[in-house]
Amino acid sequence: MSTAPETAPVPASEEAQDEVIALCAELIRFDTSNPTSDERASAEWVVARLAEAGIDSELIESAPGRASVIARIAGRDAGRGALLVHGHLDVVPADASEWQVPPFSGEIRDGYLWGRGAIDMKDTVAVMLAAARHFARTGTKPSRDLVLAFLADEEAGGKFGAHWLVEHRPELFAGVTEAIGEGGGFSFAIDDTRRLYPIENAQRGMAWMELTATGRAGHGSSPNDENAVTDLAESLTRIGRETFPIRLIEPVRALLEEAARLYGVEFDEDDIDGSLARLGPVADFMQVVLRNSANPTMFAAGYQTNVIPGKATARVDGRFLPGHEQELIDTIDRLLLPSVGREWVNHDIAMETTFDGPLVDAMCAAVRAEDPDGHPVPYCNPGGTDAKAFTHLGIRCFGFKGLKLPHDLDYGRLFHGVDERVPLEGLRFGVRVMTRLWQSC
Ligand SMILES: [Zn+2]
Repeated sequence: MSTAPETAPVPASEEAQDEVIALCAELIRFDTSNPTSDERASAEWVVARLAEAGIDSELIESAPGRASVIARIAGRDAGRGALLVHGHLDVVPADASEWQVPPFSGEIRDGYLWGRGAIDMKDTVAVMLAAARHFARTGTKPSRDLVLAFLADEEAGGKFGAHWLVEHRPELFAGVTEAIGEGGGFSFAIDDTRRLYPIENAQRGMAWMELTATGRAGHGSSPNDENAVTDLAESLTRIGRETFPIRLIEPVRALLEEAARLYGVEFDEDDIDGSLARLGPVADFMQVVLRNSANPTMFAAGYQTNVIPGKATARVDGRFLPGHEQELIDTIDRLLLPSVGREWVNHDIAMETTFDGPLVDAMCAAVRAEDPDGHPVPYCNPGGTDAKAFTHLGIRCFGFKGLKLPHDLDYGRLFHGVDERVPLEGLRFGVRVMTRLWQSC
């Protein structure tokens, strides 16, 4: 029910589609590795690129060097809730010795722009900048107010970025009702010609925990039935070998059903294994969001072979689907021996919003307009993003970047991976999609 006047969208200019590539390359050349570097220089550069087009912005430092940038762009209908578009400026570190190109060079080769952050997520940051500059240059107004956020510290949980801003500067997001960020809106090949575009409307929650076993210290040669190392190891083994039951949450079910429809095969919820077997690579892609998970990742105990320590500690990376947090906690508690306690290292919410409304319609329409063989579907992100912070402000959060990928590219492996790269055509596609979306949402 958009109240914005119906006008034909102004398409992204060739200039905007060309400059997104240069903008992304320049962004990659800022080493914003988290935790070893900072975002200040890249944030100042973002401010300057916006200012060139006449867009005011504010640079905010949460701590020395930890800088984010916020800009507000007035839309045609100020009476509607604003849309937050967020991207992060930091990246995970890269070991140059493993790469075919220096990871902070922003080199173009074989139709790709290479470098750390090329898909996570300086690509989308460049798309945001190119689209905003295009709107300013052409006097095009978005359908409603936009808040653009270029954020610090996402890769370490957003303590100095999204979470800090939500806590200390919530007025920056006044009037924002919905948000789009990373985590969805990329293409996933169904076959040679057709693609899914998973649009994130859910995220699993995080339950990172430290386990501590308390036992009876003693000599390594003596009998001991309260050995902390033994108890912790047994508890960890139980957790690591636990098969969590499949829980089909709505976005996952919807994606699998759409994939089955496109493949022309049956999807039967009472025969999940058989149904997944018919869905090939889509089933592999979705394995991680079919259920809760908990993986032991760290273990520490003892200081000498002949001394039984009184204590042993371990870490477990737990993740839960929306609506299934208590089930994960209950399962862990059932698997722990009585001598083992747990406490949270990082505990954050799962999220889910419905896949409906004008913004969802506009995202789907923008994809279909630019890729007639594209099929937008709901999606649950297995991990977490800055969206978790914005949910605390009552904002409906989605993951949508608008990235069309060649079918021979293993997108998932590039995330935080070696030889991260983005297709140049994908960047251009992103600007076209975003330009449509901002005028129609
Ligand atoms: Zn990211």
